[in-house]
Amino acid sequence: MNGSAGALAQARPADLVDPFGRVVGDLRISVTDRCNFRCQYCMPAEGMTWLPRSEILSFEEIERFAKVCVERFGFESIRLTGGEPLVRAHLPQLVERLAALGVDVALTTNGATLRMHARPLADAGLSRINISLDSLRRDRFLELTRRDELDRVLDGIDAAIDAGLAPAKINTVMMRGINDDEVIDFARFGRERGIEVRFIEFMPLEAGDVWTSAVVVPADEILAAISEVFPTEPVQRANEPAERYRYLDGGGQVGVIASVTKPFCDNCDRVRLTAEGQFRTCLFALDEFDMREILRSGAAGDDLDDRLADAIRGAVGTKWAGHSIGQVNFIRPKRTMSQIGG
Ligand code: SAM
Ligand code: SF4
Repeated sequence: MNGSAGALAQARPADLVDPFGRVVGDLRISVTDRCNFRCQYCMPAEGMTWLPRSEILSFEEIERFAKVCVERFGFESIRLTGGEPLVRAHLPQLVERLAALGVDVALTTNGATLRMHARPLADAGLSRINISLDSLRRDRFLELTRRDELDRVLDGIDAAIDAGLAPAKINTVMMRGINDDEVIDFARFGRERGIEVRFIEFMPLEAGDVWTSAVVVPADEILAAISEVFPTEPVQRANEPAERYRYLDGGGQVGVIASVTKPFCDNCDRVRLTAEGQFRTCLFALDEFDMREILRSGAAGDDLDDRLADAIRGAVGTKWAGHSIGQVNFIRPKRTMSQIGG
């Protein structure tokens, strides 16, 4: 009797706790560094060099890594990102493999090819989707993304809703003097379509060196502007970076992510895996841990899982308290958002 109870206890996943007592359980996986857009704040217009195919983790490797996170450490959610995840061929196959692990699988996309992919993704078990959209004006969208694709993205949002990918959310990075005059337009857009818009503060992870604190539009300012037109009340916060508000007239919800002015670091439960298998414990981390080397070492079975689990535990042991954007000791990571997986 004791023996079987002991075996059961061993089989249960153990919490993965960082040095600050936070339980880590949310994995973001970048499936590619490539993209069909060239957003001003993310990539240069020309001259991107992509990782060779052989350096990118295969679906089998990603699944193996995710399995260890789920089975050994009880991870409950995985988000696929990039680069643009929908440029990776056969993505629904990966979604299906990950969903089979029993976790919530989500996706962040620019939405340009979503009309084609929404249904297969939903059928494969994708549970949630975030679509990035920084302008509702065609000329500005073109200027920001360097692609004339606004109509296709809007159609992609409709396709996601039609496919039942609920709740679909819109991610909007607000930048002073660039698109902050569209706050109310976005709020109205979300209310009309019954989707939550999440306004995100601009972070210093862009290609080039354009970030200054003056470009950041503080989340409080965004919310105040919205509430003046459409009164809101706070929704009790779940363990997530977004602060959410409900429209008092029943028009749905809106969210703000104050990544710079009020970072969520104290409650951060995230880790990341880049497309080439580098494990990171923070968007702004300066260190990376090579999981691809372990995955390709020739180890197999429990031995491989043990080695991955040890490496994950060791890396999480270095997770720092939080980023220091705007402070003198802040060091910008060498990688941009698209190379990390936003
Ligand atoms: N290509 C996909 C997309 O655009 O949704 C996924 C990858 S993209 C890097 C993920 C998210 O990061 C997008 O919502 C994008 O707007 C956001 N992002 C990129 N650079 C950013 C920055 N410097 N500050 C804040 N958000 C940023
Ligand atoms: Fe591509 Fe997303 Fe970066 Fe825009 S934000 S260039 S869509 S990876």
